[in-house]
Amino acid sequence: MIPFLDMKSVYAELKPELDAAYARVMESGWYVLGKEVEAFEAEYAAFCGTRHCVGLANGLEALELVLRAWDLGPGDEVIVPSNTYIATWLAVTAVGATVVPVEPTPAGPNIDPDRIAAAITPRTKAIMPVHLYGEPADMDAIMALADRHGIKVIEDVAQAQGSKVRGRRAGAIGHAGAHSFFPTKNIGAYGDGGAVTTDDARLAERLRTLRNYGSRVKYVNLERGYNSRLDELQAAFLRAKLPRLDAWNERRRAIAARYTDKLAGIPGLGLPRAPQWAEPVWHLYVVRVLDGKDRRAELVEALDKAGIGSLIHYPIPPHLQEAYADLKRGKGSYPLAETLAETVLSLPMGPHMKAEAVDEVAATVRAALS
Ligand SMILES: *Cc1c(COP(=O)(O)O)cnc(C)c1O
Repeated sequence: MIPFLDMKSVYAELKPELDAAYARVMESGWYVLGKEVEAFEAEYAAFCGTRHCVGLANGLEALELVLRAWDLGPGDEVIVPSNTYIATWLAVTAVGATVVPVEPTPAGPNIDPDRIAAAITPRTKAIMPVHLYGEPADMDAIMALADRHGIKVIEDVAQAQGSKVRGRRAGAIGHAGAHSFFPTKNIGAYGDGGAVTTDDARLAERLRTLRNYGSRVKYVNLERGYNSRLDELQAAFLRAKLPRLDAWNERRRAIAARYTDKLAGIPGLGLPRAPQWAEPVWHLYVVRVLDGKDRRAELVEALDKAGIGSLIHYPIPPHLQEAYADLKRGKGSYPLAETLAETVLSLPMGPHMKAEAVDEVAATVRAALS
């Protein structure tokens, strides 16, 4: 049996550190907004190379609170990828702003800067690139556009903690970076968690207010805020994991390279290929079954039979979800995103995956498609 993601080995590797973190917080008698969150924020900011980090309840609210802090709302447009997890869109519509979906580059999976340029209007207030599957979006091109038009950039770093573009970490390139610490992410908590990284002191200050009922001084409320706080236990667990993140990403890189080697030359199979300037962290290893949905279903069945986990990220693009039926973007509106949804398949990946398991998955894929 080869699980899609092996979560238990992380605990096995870090049990002493994680158990110590648990004991430290339990015995402290302090569970929300305390020393652990403060320490994690400093450590994570240092890791990302930003001046500030603000711990929040989850990745979705990290995205949403930045838009709130920038005072975006009805009438404002935010450029988002057509090919992303729905959370990216939900953050925009939650503040009442309008999503302007933009298709990925032909090679995929990330948003195409040339198409962004064509989508900018006088109402565009922000661009929200996503570093999908752990592969950084073309941030140099996106920042150049944003500078030229005076618009903000918020990176969705949920799948790409630790990745780099020409030596700079994702989350430190845009005006803000929104991170998720959902358990399955490259650095995950044992529950929900999120953060925003930024060099902008005013933004950080506003987020600290927004996350705590709009209050900086107890029972004095400056604005209508949220309850969106990273808790002490999760912060302590994340502090235990952070020193391993680069090494774990390095192991993901080795697994991805092995997949790419072992899967070469299989007819009808597209392999992921990151641009030269990007240092991806392989949150997922996503292949494409070029002959479409039915052939992909056959491959999933063959993997299932062999006891190998696989998942589709994502089977339905946001514009075709019931949740966005009111936007009236029917089938054919974003053909590149739709084709990706019909052809992508994520193979098992994680820092504790063994080389023999990679070989077994590759051999099963080869046999199924040959
Ligand atoms: C996981 C994820 C989110 C949301 O993070 P949560 O912590 O689950 O709210 C946002 N965007 C992308 C691309 C994600 O993968």
